[in-house]
Amino acid sequence: AAKRDGRERVCVFDGAMDESQRFRQVIEGGLRRAIAEGELSLHYQPIVERDDLKTVGFEALLRWNSPESGPISPAIFIPIAEESGLIDDLGEWVVDHALKDCAGWPDLFVSINFSPRQFKRANFVEWLDARVAHAQVAPRNVQIEITETAIFEDTSWAADVLRELQAKGYRIALDDFGTGYSSLFNIKNFSLNCLKIDKSFIEGLGHDRHSAAIVSSVIHLARALGLYIIAEGVETDEQCQVLRLTGCSHMQGFLFGKPANAAETADQVQSLPEVPEPGQRPAAIGG
Ligand code: C2E
Ligand code: MG
Ligand code: MG
Ligand code: MG
Repeated sequence: AAKRDGRERVCVFDGAMDESQRFRQVIEGGLRRAIAEGELSLHYQPIVERDDLKTVGFEALLRWNSPESGPISPAIFIPIAEESGLIDDLGEWVVDHALKDCAGWPDLFVSINFSPRQFKRANFVEWLDARVAHAQVAPRNVQIEITETAIFEDTSWAADVLRELQAKGYRIALDDFGTGYSSLFNIKNFSLNCLKIDKSFIEGLGHDRHSAAIVSSVIHLARALGLYIIAEGVETDEQCQVLRLTGCSHMQGFLFGKPANAAETADQVQSLPEVPEPGQRPAAIGG
């Protein structure tokens, strides 16, 4: 009986391997087609400033609506695109569409996610610069979101790229801060403008002492270093109040707006009150 159990376990394991392999192939094939057939779109989620809760920019979030399977989460298809190399085409699509949409807004920034492989391509700065110039968007209205994985493996090279991007006026945000290496070395040695505190910490605000302590220390650290903070995943008034009291400069989450398509976003920005010098404001944290 023991022997049979063992064999069955092996079978189950092999079966699972096949299935995940098959799944990846289906996603990969589907994605190739998705780019060509117009199944992709970008949604935009507002990023608001602490004092008056005015929108200062939007994060671009990729959406894939597959004709067979319906909407598929980027949390599922981005890692597969990254491993298969498809992220190069996908990323180009995202950058061009995000910049085109941003060009039609008043003076607001668009925040674009870059996965490590995109960021590490040769001549990344020249490549991005050309797209941004073509779209006639000012670099200060482009925020580049990267994770620590993107800069961790080749730190001296990444430091040069980030310094160059920042010198050209791009905003650099470290995404999902607190979930990866979260090394203080990274914060000290890289040209960053912004830390995005991961939503797993914001979730705990109001009932979890440890989350509150971590969020508060990260905010103070960022302020001392002259960085602005975007708290991700703010869903409740209570979280918003705690963040404001702690001195968090910017927030993003369902409380202020869910990701909306380009047309809805264009309508939203039409009705926004004029923000004086929005490009300058994130630097002026606290207050
Ligand atoms: P992320 O960059 O950390 O994006 C924030 C995620 O949190 C988004 O999920 C957003 O919809 C979600 N979110 C925002 N506010 C709230 C809230 O109040 N509560 C909760 N529960 N969630 C909230 P989404 O759109 O599913 O994206 C997942 C991840 O996929 C992103 O995480 C990002 O890492 C990746 N991704 C999305 N679009 C792109 C892209 O164009 N390029 C790359 N490389 N990655 C992307
Ligand atoms: Mg992001
Ligand atoms: Mg994030
Ligand atoms: Mg996140």
